[in-house]
Amino acid sequence: MARKLVVHVVGARPNYMKVAPLYEALAGRPGVEQALIHTGQHYDPAVRDVFFAELPLPEPDVQLEVGSASHGEQTARALSGLERVFAELRPDLVVVPGDVNSTLAGALAAVKLQIPVCHLEAGLRSFDWTMPEEHNRRLTDHMAALLLTHSAEAGDNLGMEGVSPDRIAFVGNTMIDTLVAGLQRARKLAAWRHYGLGRRRYILVTLHRPALVDDPELLHETVRALAQTARTLPVLFPAHPRTLERLTRLSFRPSPNLILSSPLPYSRFLSLEDGAAAVITDSGGVQEETTALGVPCFTLRDNTERPVTISHGTNTLLGLNPSSIADVPALIERRRPAIRPPLWDGRAGERAADVVEAFLTGASKAPAAQSLAVAARPAAQ
Ligand code: UDP
Repeated sequence: MARKLVVHVVGARPNYMKVAPLYEALAGRPGVEQALIHTGQHYDPAVRDVFFAELPLPEPDVQLEVGSASHGEQTARALSGLERVFAELRPDLVVVPGDVNSTLAGALAAVKLQIPVCHLEAGLRSFDWTMPEEHNRRLTDHMAALLLTHSAEAGDNLGMEGVSPDRIAFVGNTMIDTLVAGLQRARKLAAWRHYGLGRRRYILVTLHRPALVDDPELLHETVRALAQTARTLPVLFPAHPRTLERLTRLSFRPSPNLILSSPLPYSRFLSLEDGAAAVITDSGGVQEETTALGVPCFTLRDNTERPVTISHGTNTLLGLNPSSIADVPALIERRRPAIRPPLWDGRAGERAADVVEAFLTGASKAPAAQSLAVAARPAAQ
């Protein structure tokens, strides 16, 4: 039988950690060929190149250069570039992870060419239509033939929107596969020492969502609150390129206890997450990783599309409210042990590959979500 071609579309930092375990698992399947396309949505080497060296992902087979632009323009550039590539490659399946503009563009380009789409990390909902990610994930889900979910709630959301259960497979969290695979190496790094910090003696911060960093007043109040908190517990802030650029415009000056850095390579960042007393973030992936690590996470947002990180994990919503940062050192004392959500076990990539393979061979559209469910297990300590 002819080999089936699976094309993965990545465009931004969190996409790599999600796709790598599926790519690696499919690489072992004789009936499957793969190609990786990078849209160039993230083009700064600090949030692109380093990850291909660290993760089980090859250099992209095709590199588009959509670059930064307004959401519509960026999505449109990715759409037209991907359409050209898909028309040439004629994949049997296009895999789009997460919720960035490249995700939506990849799904739309594929369905217009009658190519089935697999959405990896389907069904997440913040129910907040002001978030660009919410547009991307909702529209992508409704174009996908195969929806791979990482939590029971995600399947429930899809059910409520009328998505047929035979298109949904609960496979677990591939981003946590990447974490599990890299944790030992990350722990050996003890990256906090590089900054003169002690294990569990600092707060790690990441912030990049437009709702926060594109609002100069809010960003200014946030860094002021972080500087105040850093007097109690040092703060290490590896800032996303867009955040760094906004901070430069504010003429932000770090202090000895508030350390600002460029974005970090994955294993160094994971080491810092694992060693932190707490993490303050607006990142989606970081809410999940801290849950898997059992590290207290404080999310500077009014909502989360990842409620399992609150119900099972270590996540607390602070609201989009910089003054709440002052409460964090006291709240850390009240941490509770984390429970790893079901199927956040390091084997989601293999399960996802089983589902993709079955889809490609026509053996099944998608397995029943319940057949894959296992009991919750304690988080890594
Ligand atoms: N991350 C990283 N270096 C950093 C900050 C984050 O490798 O300096 C990783 C983090 O471990 C997680 C992913 O980037 O795997 C999260 O990406 P991001 O916060 O950009 O996107 P989101 O998850 O919010 O979509």
